[in-house]
Amino acid sequence: MTKHNILLTPGPTPVPPEVLEVLARPIIHHRTNEYRKIFKEVSEGLKEVFRTKNDVYTFTTSGTGAMEASMVNFLSPEDTILVLAGGKFGERFLEIAKSFSIAYDVLKVPYGQAFEPAELEKALAAKKYRAVYATHLETSTGVVNDIQALGRIVAKTDALFGVDTISGLLADRLETDEWQVDLAISGSQKGLMVPPGLGFLSVSEKAKRAMEKARFPKYYLDLKLYIKALADEDSPFTPAINVVLGLQKSLEIIKKRGVENVWKDNERLAQATRSAVKALGLELFASRPANGVTAVKVPQGVDGSKLLKILQDEYGVVMAGGQSEMKGKIFRVAHMGYITQADLAVGFECLEEVLAKLGYTFTKGASVKFFAYGVRA
Ligand SMILES: *Cc1c(COP(=O)(O)O)cnc(C)c1O
Repeated sequence: MTKHNILLTPGPTPVPPEVLEVLARPIIHHRTNEYRKIFKEVSEGLKEVFRTKNDVYTFTTSGTGAMEASMVNFLSPEDTILVLAGGKFGERFLEIAKSFSIAYDVLKVPYGQAFEPAELEKALAAKKYRAVYATHLETSTGVVNDIQALGRIVAKTDALFGVDTISGLLADRLETDEWQVDLAISGSQKGLMVPPGLGFLSVSEKAKRAMEKARFPKYYLDLKLYIKALADEDSPFTPAINVVLGLQKSLEIIKKRGVENVWKDNERLAQATRSAVKALGLELFASRPANGVTAVKVPQGVDGSKLLKILQDEYGVVMAGGQSEMKGKIFRVAHMGYITQADLAVGFECLEEVLAKLGYTFTKGASVKFFAYGVRA
């Protein structure tokens, strides 16, 4: 028997056995009624998960493909956008903008901080933007931004509101329509519990109108092709068929559980994780901690890279490190999708072992008890 690692990373996340089983089935052809029926069901299911009555389009890309689609389909060379960049993923919008020579302004907060709605209000009062892009759960810092408050401000202007909820979807509450998000962007390998390979984009009426005038070049990600194809429950290019089949299964699981209950479960896991972290005398990195992932400051005197390496190589527990400037300074524990109390209990038990090995002092066993609340709680 092959032993598997315990994945406590914010994407890819573990995949439930029922979904793995579907992925291994013989390939079916996508230009068939059988596939069309499945794709229709998946597209409807995504709308429920996104909390939108608008269509959600599926790209055979990772989440970043949908980020790019959220820009090139709605902008023209004369437009200026505003990007809220508080971490590596907010900065990704800037990188995409740079590569297309899209004019942009940036609102920044230090890593670990959330955006203040008042700052956005000031920026939008000073200048007109074609679109504002923000990150729901900034996975690199563990911060969840107040999308509801930010959306209210953007909605008062002509700007579109694009939100990267690649890791936030199904982990932290997101109400796409109610919160006036025009473009909600996600991917398959996080809260949706399927392997990587699919990117998603929900598009509001306001965004559809803007699309008509957008002149940036695109081919593979040309949304008009996807809109036309979706009318026939179809994709313009060969989709990642088996991942779509896996998604049908995971959406079935999520629907049975209920989106509200998924959020509640994640909140419970996140609270337990934050309590466990504090019980070890460790500090949270995020000012507004997310329910999908917890970022923890590496304590003084401990080598953060070594910590994660020993944890993975000797214990088979995979947590995520900090990215670029945050490397070695924080580590991140995910609690979204198919990650359970049991996974976190083992993860923290092993984390304690490694912290002790590296000379950090704490009350042994202090963290694990938070993951023993059972399934009926
Ligand atoms: C994972 C992640 C991405 C990148 O998604 P890919 O699927 O790797 O392209 C972007 N933004 C956020 C917030 C993420 O968590």
